[in-house]
Amino acid sequence: MFSLALYPSNLAIRRGVARLLSGVLIICAALSGRIAASAPADWFPDPPTLRHYVWSFQPCLGCVEYAAPPDWRRMAALAGLQTVRFIHSPDDNFGPAYSAAPDVIVLTPSALKLEACQLAFVIGHEIVHIAQRHFDEDANALSVYSGKPGDWTVLGEDAMQLSEGNFGLALRLSHLWQAQEQEADWVGALLAAQASGCSIESGALAYFRQEIEAGGGVAAAHAPSMERIRQLLPFTDSAKRLVELEPR
Ligand SMILES: [Zn+2]
Repeated sequence: MFSLALYPSNLAIRRGVARLLSGVLIICAALSGRIAASAPADWFPDPPTLRHYVWSFQPCLGCVEYAAPPDWRRMAALAGLQTVRFIHSPDDNFGPAYSAAPDVIVLTPSALKLEACQLAFVIGHEIVHIAQRHFDEDANALSVYSGKPGDWTVLGEDAMQLSEGNFGLALRLSHLWQAQEQEADWVGALLAAQASGCSIESGALAYFRQEIEAGGGVAAAHAPSMERIRQLLPFTDSAKRLVELEPR
């Protein structure tokens, strides 16, 4: 599961450990397989070429399907995805939104209260995690770091379980998680620009600023959002250009 709210540095480690140790998150049985692909936008980064695992998702308690507006579907198409399942969760335990392999984005009541462009950024961020196969990236890395042969399992959940109770292994992956979050931020912000007409300012930066304002004055809690803002500023002009394009 990839959550937008908690990143980077020590928070990424904490998030990662929680993510890996909490039963790998919500993901368990039933629906599985690979997500269908369509042609992505020409600017969209190529997904990594790595082994694809089989993933399954068990709907969370009280969760229901959520009818996505057209611009969220456009973001998925720009990312090369034909299908993303949107689910509404009644609780905010994992932050405003998170993604779960293979193709699920879970939204909470707090996400749906966000301004439209802030929410578009949040959705774009989670779509990037799915399109860039960050789950497979994690499963591959855990297998390699654990010395497993390449064909030891086809199940992504099996690979994720390798880190259970293994804090050192989770720490070894922390650099990867931070890189994934950075990628989800800038690519997600550009998806929101082209599909929803949202500038970096009205989407990502506004989202992080309201996080800072809600931080309760604890300076340490502000640093991650400030860092994310700094990392997004170089993409401001690219987002402006995409905003001017016809929505696809
Ligand atoms: Zn994320």
